[in-house]
Amino acid sequence: MKVFKFGGASVKDAAGIRNLEQIVRMHNTPDGLMVVVSAIGKTTNALERVVEFCDAGKEEMALNQWIDIIDHHVAIMKELGLQPGVDIRLQGEIPYDPNKSYDENYDQIVSMGELLSTQIIAVYLLKQGLSVEWWNMPKLLRTDNTWREARVDDATSAATIRAGWDRAQRPDIVVAQGFIGGTADGQRTTLGREGSDYTAALLGNYLDAESVTIWKDVPGILNADPRIEPNTVLIPTLRYQDAVELSYSGAQIIHPKTIKPLENKRIPLYVKPFGDPNAAGSCISEDGIGPINIPVYIWRKNQILITMRPKDFAFVLEESLSEIFDIIHRHRLKVSLIQSSAVTISVCVDNTRFVPDAMNELKQHFNVSYNDHLSLLTIRGTTKEILEQAKAGRTIMLSQTTRRTARLVVAENELLP
Ligand code: ASP
Ligand code: MG
Repeated sequence: MKVFKFGGASVKDAAGIRNLEQIVRMHNTPDGLMVVVSAIGKTTNALERVVEFCDAGKEEMALNQWIDIIDHHVAIMKELGLQPGVDIRLQGEIPYDPNKSYDENYDQIVSMGELLSTQIIAVYLLKQGLSVEWWNMPKLLRTDNTWREARVDDATSAATIRAGWDRAQRPDIVVAQGFIGGTADGQRTTLGREGSDYTAALLGNYLDAESVTIWKDVPGILNADPRIEPNTVLIPTLRYQDAVELSYSGAQIIHPKTIKPLENKRIPLYVKPFGDPNAAGSCISEDGIGPINIPVYIWRKNQILITMRPKDFAFVLEESLSEIFDIIHRHRLKVSLIQSSAVTISVCVDNTRFVPDAMNELKQHFNVSYNDHLSLLTIRGTTKEILEQAKAGRTIMLSQTTRRTARLVVAENELLP
């Protein structure tokens, strides 16, 4: 069997869903196809706004935003010849409960995006005469209740999902939501933004897939972001470890958690353009050719550089390291780079909503200074000339180089050279 994952951009409108149908038809075999889908277009962002409005008590704005989202889906359904309310049940009320925490409400509301997109796609494929089943992942992918970043219970999920897949009467195609799961007591959870790739990898792992393919709006994995660097090249093959490093450095090509479940079972991962289904794209596997011999530029945006100095001038590395990292870990900060001197330690982290609380705690123990609105540029396979070029015209807040990799922290507005 194979697993296909379609992101929000590839199913953003009726044409995208028809294109998905064509791709699925090309690969529809009795071995079975698991189709994992994200929310349509920018629905997840819109649902996040619903949560914010609900939380702020702005009921009318929440409802208007909610109605916009439903209307957008209704328009797509109609274009696909489906009957809203008949073919697909629409939820009029926002699943918001003022007694629950922000994060728990977030998961109940934001998960609606994937539930809607997959119902539309499953019903549409069925009406086109394909053999299809819709899966409700909150019942099948078991997680804990770490809202917004739920951890998957692999043993329980694998058993349920295998049993579902191995049924004799299973249709050829299964359509399932990426990004969402559910707790033992029936609450919906989400796995972290852009988590659909991770779902696809988990399903590939549980079902011993022949391969997993992520269909995207790019030709495959490129050596740089085409919106920033004018001359990009496609990387045809790479190894799992290269892919992990690329996604960790901020390449927004695949979710960082995607690789491990695939590597564990040596399942190849293809990244292919949904607009050109016969193109080779990129393949990540055990025997990809590596290390990559073209320079790869990866931008990780929205960074904040925090520098800590012990109040008593203690040697930071000897005395404060575990304390600092304990605070960082407890506040769920995502560290992208670390640098130290005798009395200071600097960490570059994603500037998330967790940062202010973490900083407050750090300030109790250290003198803290910081710079925000930064980006981290990682260049893998760098040379002296490439590095000089990258530095030119930019204010470098911090730089770190090893034999083949250079990392530069630069001001966000200097992203484009
Ligand atoms: N729809 C979710 C998001 O936009 C998950 C995903 O696209 O992978 O973050
Ligand atoms: Mg997405």
